[in-house]
Amino acid sequence: MALFAPEKIKENFDLLAQRIADCCERVGRRPDEVRLIPVTKEFPPAVIEIAYASGYKQVGENKVQELVDKYEALKQNGAYGDLDLILIGHLQSNKARFLADYVSEFHALDSLRLAARIDRFMAEAGRVLPVYVQVNTSSEESKYGLPAAEALDFIDACAAFKNLRVIGLMTLAINSKNDEEVRQCFRTLRQLRDQAQQKHPSVSRLSMGMSGDFEIAIEEGATDIRVGQMIFGSRDIANELAHFWPEDKAR
Ligand SMILES: *Cc1c(COP(=O)(O)O)cnc(C)c1O
Repeated sequence: MALFAPEKIKENFDLLAQRIADCCERVGRRPDEVRLIPVTKEFPPAVIEIAYASGYKQVGENKVQELVDKYEALKQNGAYGDLDLILIGHLQSNKARFLADYVSEFHALDSLRLAARIDRFMAEAGRVLPVYVQVNTSSEESKYGLPAAEALDFIDACAAFKNLRVIGLMTLAINSKNDEEVRQCFRTLRQLRDQAQQKHPSVSRLSMGMSGDFEIAIEEGATDIRVGQMIFGSRDIANELAHFWPEDKAR
């Protein structure tokens, strides 16, 4: 892990905001249509404080245990009372209860079993959780998410759960140097969103785009980009492979 110095991180936030604005201008979108979710996974909790001080009160983590640990570490400091933690990565259904206690949004819903459990814990907590359905737009065996062909039925089925609300779709694009292949993944997600939205108006958002491909994602309609390494520094490659090509991909 090569974590940038705090000053450099603050600069990167400004730089990124400028790139988002430039990209939006090129394609005739308003910069305020695109939310940047800084992704703090694998970086120390202090990184969340820097993001917060830079005006980002919502950050993304991909593993629920790490999210909980960081929240507990930061909670000591009352200033972070309005910090929102967004879970952007896969969740096993036996960990659904953590969402009720710690998480403001979940971007990786991909099974009805998990949806049912989230619904139950949210009902107990008296909350409605905004969720995004994760779609495997690249059809890579190694990635989480529903096959695109199953996404619409899945969203229909989610309407039965009163304590979660599907507000968008999420994807990780194909891991490719070919921009057209990456773009195609984002297009697929957008087309699915357009179809789903006709029946379910709340399904409006597109969580797509990371450090390496966020500009393509914005061009294709992203409303939420999830960026880590470009802001904070590079993560350990071994960990990265373990995350994107999980060995224990059991559902
Ligand atoms: C790590 C991660 C990101 C951010 O990737 P970077 O390369 O750090 O920008 C985005 N989405 C998900 C689901 C992630 O796990």
